Amino acid sequence: MPARPPFVLCLSGHDPIGGAGLHADIETLSAFGVHGLSAVTALTVQDSRNVARVVPTDPNLLAAQLDCLLADCQPDAIKLGLIGAIEQLPVIAEVLRRCAVPVVCDPVLRAGGGAELVPGSYAAALRQILLPLVTVLTPNAAEARRLAPEADDLNAAGRALLTAGCAQVLITGGDEPGPTVVNLGYQPNTAPQRYVWPRLPETFHGAGCTLASAIAARLAQGDTIAAALQQAQAWTQASLARAYAVGHGRRIPGRLP
Ligand code: PLP
Repeated sequence: MPARPPFVLCLSGHDPIGGAGLHADIETLSAFGVHGLSAVTALTVQDSRNVARVVPTDPNLLAAQLDCLLADCQPDAIKLGLIGAIEQLPVIAEVLRRCAVPVVCDPVLRAGGGAELVPGSYAAALRQILLPLVTVLTPNAAEARRLAPEADDLNAAGRALLTAGCAQVLITGGDEPGPTVVNLGYQPNTAPQRYVWPRLPETFHGAGCTLASAIAARLAQGDTIAAALQQAQAWTQASLARAYAVGHGRRIPGRLP
């Protein structure tokens, strides 16, 4: 038995219905036997259909929480979700530099229900400030296009985001049309890797958070990036097949034991 489980630090928003954000992160980490450390980046008003309001945490409070936490323990990987405010980005960048562990970033920009979750200039700021510090970036197709507005197509967006500094980009295709879900993996100097999954009939709330947390869990456990991507996608697909309804909108991935 290891002396302790791996630790993943999650910087994510709070979703009261428990589908996305920190609930998704910690349930996923627990399923992998990984302990979650956390700081809440934003409170939200939302249900299973859409997000009505995002209230970012004061950057000074976030910095104080992280300073206190990191003086006491060290994560083995970091997972970034909804960040909520441009002013939090330098605080988070400093923590990523200080910890020097694998970082998985789910660049949350808009809710599946359609609500904008971040200010207009946020995508450009995220790209400039955080992407050089990220190990695995997991945008959906719409987020990839917004993060790389200069790109003519999705492949060009994947390559542009690599150039911005992350080691691996995984563009998820759940928000694209088609009979299957095709996720596209990009690494420097290699052809894009296609991961093809059956498209399930329902729509989901919190799938992106679940996938990114599963990748972070596997990296914290020592997987290579390639193995982490494969294992995390398979586990997320299984959780979507077990999804259940909490409210009247989209279903929640089944992450419980
Ligand atoms: N709320 C929070 C706190 C989130 O982190 C996210 C996505 O990451 C959402 C809402 C939106 O999730 P979805 O688009 O899966 O509905």
